[in-house]
Amino acid sequence: MGDTDEWHTDDRDGGEGSGGRPPAPAPARIHGAIARAWDELVATARRTAADGLVVGTSGNVSVRVGDTVLVTPSGVPYDRLRPADAVGVDLDGHQVLGSLKPTSEVPLHLAIHRSTDAGAVVHTHAVHATAVSTLVPELPGIHYMAADLGGPVRVAPYALYGSEELAESMLRALQERTGCLLQNHGAVTYGDTLDQAYDRTAQLEWMCRLWLTAASVPGHTPSLLSPSQLNDAGQKLRGYGQR
Ligand code: 13P
Ligand code: ZN
Repeated sequence: MGDTDEWHTDDRDGGEGSGGRPPAPAPARIHGAIARAWDELVATARRTAADGLVVGTSGNVSVRVGDTVLVTPSGVPYDRLRPADAVGVDLDGHQVLGSLKPTSEVPLHLAIHRSTDAGAVVHTHAVHATAVSTLVPELPGIHYMAADLGGPVRVAPYALYGSEELAESMLRALQERTGCLLQNHGAVTYGDTLDQAYDRTAQLEWMCRLWLTAASVPGHTPSLLSPSQLNDAGQKLRGYGQR
């Protein structure tokens, strides 16, 4: 992976743009950045499968390079993705790169890229996150790491996969959050980078597992953190780790 010599794009120079639109702009100027971002996107998508957060071709990933949003293609196993399979859309959803059909969740990814400064979005069907999405309207504040997602994580009411309605439902659940659950569907997180978006997905899945584990002990109810405890944790987390 990472062999940018394999990289190529469709030759769109001579063609008429579809639907009266001008031909897709040649990506030559951001060629290197797009090639690198695609490699990282594929690595992240493969990680979601390797870590058991998705099964088969479920889930999807996007990363933004300027005004182009690279997305996983729909229904293609991640281990088959090569540099030549790169797929990109603009912020209006027009395909500007590649010939494979983009993920069916383009509306969901673009809703985040249009309304935040997210660099990357990760959507999975992680099992504990999806289980919690069927039980409560919000993941209870079971752990201070909820603060890394902006506070208690909401569940977006169900809507059909790939629909604008789902994207809108998700955006409401994401108010002041960097992650949410999708009822009877899965989870979405975003971040500045693919690594940050992925780590938030992994932390969210872990917190859902934690709550399900604690809440399933007969005769006991898990203690929860107060808004001010979560707030304190959020402030401290801003300085977490190495300088
Ligand atoms: P795609 O294969 O089209 O990305 O769909 C998977 C998915 O998770 C839809 O919600
Ligand atoms: Zn999905």
